[in-house]
Amino acid sequence: MGMPQDIDVGSHIWVGDPELAWTDGIVMNVKGTEAEVQTGDGKMLITTLSKIYPRDLESPDEGVDDMTKLSYLNEPAVLYNLATRYKINEIYTYCGNILIAVNPFQSLSHLYDDSIMQRYKGVQLGELSPHVFAIADVAYRAMINEGKSNSILVSGESGAGKTETTKMLMRYLAFLGGHAAAEGRTVEQQVLESNPVLEAFGNAKTVRNNNSSRFGKFVEIQFDRHGRISGAAIRTYLLERSRVCQISDPERNYHCFYLLCAAPLEEIQRYKLGDPKSFHYLNQSSCYELVGVNDAHDYLATRKAMDVVGISEKEQEAIFRVVAAILHLGNIAFAKGEEDSSMLQDDESKFHLQMTAELLMCDPQALEVALCERVMITPEEIIKRSLDPHGATVSRDGLAKTIYSRLFDWLVNKINVSIGQDPHSQCLIGVLDIYGFESFETNSFEQFCINFTNEKLQQHFNQHVFKMEQAEYKNEEIDWSYVEFVDNQDVLDLLEKKPGGIISLLDEACMFPKSTHETFTQKLYQTFKDHKRFVKPKLARTEFTIVHYAGEVQYQSDQFLDKNKDYVVPEHQDLLSASQCPFVAGLFPPLSEETAKSGKFSSIGSRFKLQLQQLMDILKSTEPNYIRCIKPNSELKSAVFENANVLQQLRSGGVLEAIRVKCKGYPTHRTFIEFLNRFAILAPEILEGNYDEQVACKWILEKVGVTGYQMGKTKVFLKAGQMAVLDAHKAKI
Ligand code: ATP
Ligand code: MG
Repeated sequence: MGMPQDIDVGSHIWVGDPELAWTDGIVMNVKGTEAEVQTGDGKMLITTLSKIYPRDLESPDEGVDDMTKLSYLNEPAVLYNLATRYKINEIYTYCGNILIAVNPFQSLSHLYDDSIMQRYKGVQLGELSPHVFAIADVAYRAMINEGKSNSILVSGESGAGKTETTKMLMRYLAFLGGHAAAEGRTVEQQVLESNPVLEAFGNAKTVRNNNSSRFGKFVEIQFDRHGRISGAAIRTYLLERSRVCQISDPERNYHCFYLLCAAPLEEIQRYKLGDPKSFHYLNQSSCYELVGVNDAHDYLATRKAMDVVGISEKEQEAIFRVVAAILHLGNIAFAKGEEDSSMLQDDESKFHLQMTAELLMCDPQALEVALCERVMITPEEIIKRSLDPHGATVSRDGLAKTIYSRLFDWLVNKINVSIGQDPHSQCLIGVLDIYGFESFETNSFEQFCINFTNEKLQQHFNQHVFKMEQAEYKNEEIDWSYVEFVDNQDVLDLLEKKPGGIISLLDEACMFPKSTHETFTQKLYQTFKDHKRFVKPKLARTEFTIVHYAGEVQYQSDQFLDKNKDYVVPEHQDLLSASQCPFVAGLFPPLSEETAKSGKFSSIGSRFKLQLQQLMDILKSTEPNYIRCIKPNSELKSAVFENANVLQQLRSGGVLEAIRVKCKGYPTHRTFIEFLNRFAILAPEILEGNYDEQVACKWILEKVGVTGYQMGKTKVFLKAGQMAVLDAHKAKI
């Protein structure tokens, strides 16, 4: 009886529950492979023994701070441990050396003040309660002591707390590696103040997060020989461009637009701004204000942060002038002109055209032409073609997106130049804050790229946690029943293989003038007919499904081709590179003759793939540290913990797998020599004889009464807690 898991009548167990995912219960009866269970809230149900897990009655009421300390390690225990701790505002929990951070959705400022930073400094992981500072401290110490670069990878879905976590990591690293009492703008101040600047231009309110980062970010903090911050580099990935001209209710556009509309009166008048409600790029949504945010205050704060990162007064003026120009540009509307042409809709549009041109310091007529006409160059002649109102609107939005993304890139570059890299730096700590796995009702090219990123990072995580662990067991030829895990190399091949992967096929489609999203999708269906990770949904013509490591996602291909083309209309390029404003002209440097002539196709997908590969190369050269952020509920409320939701995140973050591997295995590995150096004192007699090292290690372990360890070819493998037992014996001597 109770065959699979020692479950018997009277056993306290976890049982699957449709609402809570798991709930507690007591076994009332066992018949064959089925059990009758009474749940904590009095319900009776019948379930198979394989779907219930034993529950530890002795686990402390306040939970345990490291999952590996759970006596029965299973999915419900992990979930309830997090929930229990969350209730008492213990938002951090370790899983070995992975930190799990559950978003509190309330200010817990006592957790982060300077005295807390002081307390974590130099303290071994696990000695104090789990904390982001502890992870940053581990990374810093490892870098100082071993001279090896480290990285901290922060992941989680939108709103899980990645960016807040990243900022705390950076603050702590600045605290450790700062230049005490330095005058003026120190490197670390600049690094920290880059955050509000990038957030103003790269973050926006979405339904998932009021301050959602619409770009990925890798901050590389460089250190000198003395462990002081000596330079930094910020890399950003794939800013969401479409948001500039298209937002859905109740989201917002990028923060900077609202900040500017709340600027001091003098600026408002200079840029002829006003109520955000009067701008098309903002009034597609009914949300203008954010609870708890004062745009007027944040405008001034952003200007201050810009000062710190080295953006001059003049440059700041130009930046906000461009932001204002984009708002006016969005208000230019077109009506049908003669034949298939278009013209400005009314006087208001004429006014906004005038304002846009004035702010961008370009010629208003030229602007109108650039918006409404296209020049086609054929070998025989140059043809002028008018755009219809729809075409002109697309042209206008394209221009807005291009200007905005160039502005964002300019900011990142400027911050990098002004902070400066340290060419002599030996070591760095990289902090990655990048979008988590996304699966929405409609998924387009952006989700495709984001999920591609997550596949890459998941593989890195797999390799680190699983492959390394298992490879070591294998090398040492120890007895180890392999824990099954899903490698995702097959998905990566499907996405990025060159040639033949989806990104390659998309590029081919973009270069071939006749292809459409339909022909592209048909090509995918044909090519990946038998691929395990690719599914053609029933009746689909332009949708395709990818079986990602975290679940299936169905993509709508209709905008893939357009979104993959990294293309600036030559008319727009010419218009703005001729701007009287050096800042604006600088955003549109003249194309080198070569690129202009070759007309070489440049693809967003391939460029992103390359950037990602470079990121992975850096990450591979570092010692990784992982923080998994969890969003406890979708309402962004404090004190609400949705079990099923959290479980899904633990699964897609690989946390559940990592836990299984770690605990089933032997978390402590020591070479025989290391082991003997540390513990020979427990059996001084072995020093007398001429023992084989392995025999000597065995002797010590047996003398102390440790069992269940493993002897490898060169190392001793200990289960969790056994090292502590040995240390305790040593302490008694
Ligand atoms: P996105 O992918 O959309 O950028 P994110 O994971 O970066 O999401 P954050 O912006 O870091 O999410 O967090 C969302 C919100 O959650 C924050 O604005 C803040 O209100 C709250 N939050 C996150 N972490 C903490 C924390 N440690 N303490 C208090 N509040 C937090
Ligand atoms: Mg973020």
